Amino acid sequence: MLETVVAVVEQSAGGQDPWTLGTARDLYDLPFNDLIYRSHTFHRANFDANSVQLSKLLNIKTGGCPEDCGYCSQSAHHASGLTASKLMKLDDVVSEALKAKESGATRYCMGAAWRSPKPRDEPAIVEMVKAVKSLGLETCMTLGMLSPQQAETFADAGLDYYNHNIDTSERFYPEVITSRTFDDRLETLAHVREAGIKVCSGGILGMGESVDDRIDMLVTLANLPVPPESVPINMLIPMPGSRLANAGPVDPIEFIRIIALARLMMPASSVRLTAGRTAMSDEMQALCFFAGANSIFIGDTLLTAANPGNDRDSSLLSRLGLRPTSVEMQGEL
Ligand code: SAM
Ligand code: SF4
Repeated sequence: MLETVVAVVEQSAGGQDPWTLGTARDLYDLPFNDLIYRSHTFHRANFDANSVQLSKLLNIKTGGCPEDCGYCSQSAHHASGLTASKLMKLDDVVSEALKAKESGATRYCMGAAWRSPKPRDEPAIVEMVKAVKSLGLETCMTLGMLSPQQAETFADAGLDYYNHNIDTSERFYPEVITSRTFDDRLETLAHVREAGIKVCSGGILGMGESVDDRIDMLVTLANLPVPPESVPINMLIPMPGSRLANAGPVDPIEFIRIIALARLMMPASSVRLTAGRTAMSDEMQALCFFAGANSIFIGDTLLTAANPGNDRDSSLLSRLGLRPTSVEMQGEL
């Protein structure tokens, strides 16, 4: 059995045989213990299984977004009660980044509720990238769609990562978002890659998608010419006032199966246990780490939603014997 899994992963991860829903589903449907044993084996072959990379996410511009992402409290289409804010001042971003560094973060992610940055926003974003980078933190931006010129501008500023989630399968995408297309997302990922910025792209479970939709999302990511260096797997946080406020919970075992599959399909990528951890038990998170997740966001909030917070996270990580990935080891993520 292991030989089959190894052969499938090596054939596909090596790019010879692109992943298909069929080959990925075969792995997903393995007995749970076989699946997480295989994914853990691949995890150990690529990473220190006892370290977790810590990132911090800051909303540098909140609310009033013209896009209609069904899950998002920042969409202007949703009565989420959120007060929109202007772009944060550079000094405030830097002081927040310093706090994140003191809490052990090695990557600082800055998100803006935009469809895409306007030309007038670019100089401020460039200054933020340079200032946060000068603190010795890896920089990440998630600002919506980018033109090739915008990607080049941010690459020239030294931006390390760009987050742009495809969120779900191409089939299910129109059920979640109608103000842009799945191809729009893939286009920005290509612009980011061409500019030489590392890619962070993943998606969300719990929006009413099927298991095949979740697997198809991973097939799209794993079959990119260069798979994302970071793959965030979010569990939907049902935001009041959003179109998905009443979306059902995700079965924890199905969630862990997707973490394991992401690890097997993209063995060298960082698999990020992202939104929804406040609703996950310690045991569920422990199984996600075993299955191959090796990055989390720290802090009490994740944009406009709750996050476990540093006390709960440090208690969990120390009880599991997991240590924060140092900047030196960072290069592997
Ligand atoms: N505005 C940027 C964009 O859309 O690309 C950044 C959005 S946010 C920082 C990054 C990601 O968080 C989204 O692309 C989505 O995948 C995820 N996310 C947003 N709201 C969520 C929610 N309520 N539950 C789970 N994941 C969510
Ligand atoms: Fe806007 Fe991003 Fe929220 Fe979508 S996820 S509504 S693009 S802020």
